[in-house]
Order: sequence, then structure tokens, then C-alpha cells
Amino acid sequence: MPKILVSGGTGYIGSHAVVELLGKGMEVVIVDNLSNSEIEVLDGIKSITGKSPHFEEVDLKDRKATYGVFEKHPDISAIIHFAAYKAVGESVEKPLDYYENNLLSLIHLLEAMKIYKVDHLVFSSSCTIYGEPDHLPVTEDAPLKKATSPYGNTKQICEDILQDTMKSVEGKGVISLRYFNPIGAHPSAKIGELPLGVPNNLVPFITQTAAGLREYLSIFGDDYNTPDGSAIRDYINVVDLAKAHVRAIGRLLEGKQKSSFEVFNLGTGRGVSVFEIIKSFEKATNQKLNYKVVGRREGDIEKVYADTSFANAELGWKAEKGLEETLQSAWRWEMKIRSNKMKK
Ligand code: UDP
Repeated sequence: MPKILVSGGTGYIGSHAVVELLGKGMEVVIVDNLSNSEIEVLDGIKSITGKSPHFEEVDLKDRKATYGVFEKHPDISAIIHFAAYKAVGESVEKPLDYYENNLLSLIHLLEAMKIYKVDHLVFSSSCTIYGEPDHLPVTEDAPLKKATSPYGNTKQICEDILQDTMKSVEGKGVISLRYFNPIGAHPSAKIGELPLGVPNNLVPFITQTAAGLREYLSIFGDDYNTPDGSAIRDYINVVDLAKAHVRAIGRLLEGKQKSSFEVFNLGTGRGVSVFEIIKSFEKATNQKLNYKVVGRREGDIEKVYADTSFANAELGWKAEKGLEETLQSAWRWEMKIRSNKMKK
């Protein structure tokens, strides 16, 4: 069975992908510097799968340490690169940290692929690179818009680096997965998202508000050109998203790529407004949510949702879980975090 290096494997999406890979019998080497995740995530992964991934506490900015992982595991067949800084607001305040971390880690992995003869890489990209799209649903060939944050720019630059690098080498392949809005947690509530401080993202803010940690949810704008005035996104269950990574790895290992750099949108194909998310959450969890409409958040897009036909056809993958089920999983996870905190 192939051995897969998963950078950022103790993070939110990474940990769910590790569970899916182990579930398919693959061996996993997690590389993570624990800068935005906790080592206990490994216990959650083990408890779900009955298996333990290898774990290397390594910072990918450190070239020597990165190479060391490949020296120790010479039989790695492919890489899934999740590890990155991802907070839009923070990236505006600390742009150099974002460029250094997100670009250097990718560069070091690409160097290692050359030296240690690893042919395949799956990259975590984001729909943020489409900006405000001209046409909806947005397809993979939509033009990329100038990034509105250093974070978004790092994703664009990383895709450029990958594309250029693939042109310069023979026999290697990259798949870039452009995530829409990943939400929810594993149905077991053993792994999920662990936001540090006040969450920026909608669903963690909702679950924390329902749990009493926040007084109310601020709805960023109800004057958009959408049916109910609130902004529209494509919210995808994190387990569905994780499964797409297994498909992408399979495509690479089986040599099914049509070109050495391929891009896939990962979403549900359905646009959902902030008010709709609130209603679904209340219905799915029987919680009443306090909220207030406030002004628009700077840099926010009015509406974006994916055309998923390329991923459906080529990866043989489709998002399957419904919104209410997904919001229930987010709520179960929030309650699990709260009860763990009480025990500590
Ligand atoms: N949003 C909101 N209140 C919040 C957080 C987010 O109204 O406290 C809205 C935000 O304006 C956007 C949607 O929820 O329309 C999703 O925001 P998120 O930050 O989760 O994702 P992104 O903006 O990156 O798509």
C-alpha cells in the first residue's frame, strides 16, 4: 500500500484526510509543526481508524528538517500539502509571515520531490483565487482575480509555482484542489476544527455563539444583490472534502492525469446564504441563535459557488452530505470541545 506524506495532517482538513487515507489502507506520515493544531488530534485519528499514522514534528520552512523526513521515509509515493497559514485578516497584518511560511514550505517540498524522486503532489488551494467571479457557478477555467489579501495571493503564487515546476520536470504530476467553504466535523466528533481565539469563519462563530461563548453572531451585510440580501457561499462537508483527496491520490498513482498540472473545484455546487445557514443550524440543532445584522466585511465576495462537473466526472467524486447533517456535526464537535475544556 502506498505511503502518503500529509503536511498539516493534524490540522482541520488534514486530519479528516488522514482518516480517509488510513481507512483505505494507506500508510500516512504526518508532518506538522503544531503551530495551529494539537498533538491530541492523533488520538482522535487513532480512535476513529484503529490505526496510527507516523508523526514528524517538523517545520517545512526548515529545509534540512524537511529533507530529513524523506531520508527517514524513503518509500513515500505522494504528498498532500495542507500545511499553511490561512487567516485572511492576520495575513493583512503579517504579510511577510504568510509569504515566508506558505511559499517556502511548498518550495522545500518540491525540491525534496526532485531529490527523493517523489512524483505526485496534491495541493490545498482555495476558491478565494477566483475573487468575485464573472459567471456562476464558477468553473476551473474562470480567470483568477487579483487577490484581496496576502493569504489569497499565496495560494495564487503557489499554484503558479506548481505549474511552472511541472513544466520543467518529466513524469511528475500535481493536482490542485480549490476548496470552497469547508465546514462541519467528523460524525464521531473525535476530530474537528479548533479555532484559536475568536473565529473568523461563519460556522465556528455560530457554534460558539450557540454554546454561549459569544453574545451574538454579526451578519456581515444584508444589502447584497442576493434573494435575502446576505452573501452566498458553497459550504462543503469536511469529510466529503477529505474523500476527494483520496480520489486525487488515486488518480495520480494510477497515472490517469490528462496533464501534469490539474485543477479541481471542490464544492457542492449549491449557493447558500448566511441567513439560510442560520435557519438550517437552528432547525438541525434545536438551538436559538442570537444574531445582529452589521455592515459588510471588507473584502467579502457577494456570491460564489462551484461548478463541480469536472470533479464529478474526472475524480468520480461528489459531495454527498446534506447541510443540516453537516451543521449537526459541527454542533456535536463544539459540545465535545466544551466538555473536554470542562474536564481540564
Ligand atoms: N460571515 C458573517 N459573520 C461572521 C463570519 C462570516 O456574516 O461572523 C459571513 C461572511 O460575510 C461570508 C460568509 O459568512 O459571507 C462566510 O464567511 P467565512 O469567513 O466563513 O468564509 P469566506 O468569507 O472565506 O468565504
